[in-house]
Amino acid sequence: DTNRELIGSLIVDVPDFPKPGVVFKDITPLLASPEGFQTAVDELVASAPEGIDVVVGMEARGFIFAAPVALALGAGFVPVRKPGKLPGETISHSFELEYGSETLTMHRNAITPGARVLVVDDVLATGGTIGATAELLKAMGAELVHVSVVMELSFLHGRERLVEMGIDKCTALV
Ligand code: IMP
Repeated sequence: DTNRELIGSLIVDVPDFPKPGVVFKDITPLLASPEGFQTAVDELVASAPEGIDVVVGMEARGFIFAAPVALALGAGFVPVRKPGKLPGETISHSFELEYGSETLTMHRNAITPGARVLVVDDVLATGGTIGATAELLKAMGAELVHVSVVMELSFLHGRERLVEMGIDKCTALV
């Protein structure tokens, strides 16, 4: 459809970034386009099921999309952050990357048990980031009802990884 075509046309392939052999998807042209950014937020909002209490976004590019989606849905926004950034008591979850590992944190009491959560990020690649976020939400007793991302890199099989974790409701705009 034309909205999705517009969004796709504003995401640019950058070869050999951040290292040789990787093709980075650069969303900054999408953000720089008022029409493109608005369309992406509108489509993410449209992908959300009814009755979302909280939108969770991941540092750093996830914040850019998750915050306006939260406002549009009348939901709260809760950040997932790298270690050492949140001032309160946190819970954390670590996961393996191709080289080394990554840890994500949330405030322990950020979400009421049973709250209905939408997770929003810019890019779904291997699914490690969203998978770790899902573990944090599970530890909090929150209900992850939907995942919405702007772009999915399907050759990295993140969606399959999420399905293995029981997360089968995932929208990718492009
Ligand atoms: P994953 O954990 O492998 O699914 O990677 C997803 C995370 O890495 C997201 O939070 C993205 O912001 C980031 N990411 C991975 N690949 C890209 C890319 O090509 N462009 C922009 N962000 C990316």
